[in-house]
Amino acid sequence: MATIPWLVDVLRGAGVQVVVEGDWLNRMRSGSFDPIGVLWHHTAATSSATNPHPALNICINGRSDLPGPLCQALVDYHGVFHVISAGRCNHAGTSGGSGPIPVGDGNTLMIGWEIDYNGVDQRMTTAQYNASIAATAAVLKRLGRDSSYARGHRETSTTGKIDPSFIDLNTMRADVAAKMAGGGTGWTSIVDNATAGRFTASANWGTSTYSGQRYGADYRYADPVAASDAAWYKFNVPRTGNYRVEAWWPANAGYNAATPYIVATTTGNKTVTVDQRATGGQWRSLGTFTLPAGDANRVAVSRWSSAAGLVIADAVRLTEV
Ligand SMILES: [Zn+2]
Repeated sequence: MATIPWLVDVLRGAGVQVVVEGDWLNRMRSGSFDPIGVLWHHTAATSSATNPHPALNICINGRSDLPGPLCQALVDYHGVFHVISAGRCNHAGTSGGSGPIPVGDGNTLMIGWEIDYNGVDQRMTTAQYNASIAATAAVLKRLGRDSSYARGHRETSTTGKIDPSFIDLNTMRADVAAKMAGGGTGWTSIVDNATAGRFTASANWGTSTYSGQRYGADYRYADPVAASDAAWYKFNVPRTGNYRVEAWWPANAGYNAATPYIVATTTGNKTVTVDQRATGGQWRSLGTFTLPAGDANRVAVSRWSSAAGLVIADAVRLTEV
């Protein structure tokens, strides 16, 4: 049985914060372990800044129906990797095959990150996302595999697992690929309509909790109007460069079919129109744009739409590419 005693060094070398959890080199299940990829999970536990790793004990010690360790590393609320095992763990069950990962024993084939968030009404934190991308890129490089060897449990599961939820796995793989190619820094930032000091909208924009597809606690809405009354998202862009701009909206048949998003680039404002009646509850790319460094309003949702239906302003994410 192989082990991966290099894991801690590889993670630290990638700039990932690591906490070694006891005798990780000798804590493992018996059986084969010959990993070719990385599997992403969420724990289903609710983490917070003051309780950043509620599932850590279970991941180390297991549960009555499943002996530990349950993953090679747990990723806490702050993006710290708690390294639990250098060997085989009970995290993957049977692989039904996904991408280049074949059908077989998932615990042999893959190294597992348990990202500690509940996945029902809590999303992966930005810190968890960034650390997971950096760690996955470094480990795949060490394994001599490309980003397609990173999968989500819901892709390989044969028993209907849903984790990790609230994340587009193709986007996550693209970010791993960019990291492996040395492109960008993996810098990413989310501004929600509720993010303090970073979202501005006039009183004409109402606040709603109606759709379960919302990002965070609520979102803003307004009737379309042929006038300038945009809702703005302010970002502190670390350096002038190329950034993927993504938007999240809850979708509804009564929402706007042609919502203009405005991106303030180095060469002026660019407009991208989306259909907010569909593809809600997920990050949707508006494209890649060159943005100037500095802390300023970068992305807006405009009410100036020719279509009927409410214009929605929920969350926006930038990722350096
Ligand atoms: Zn899982």
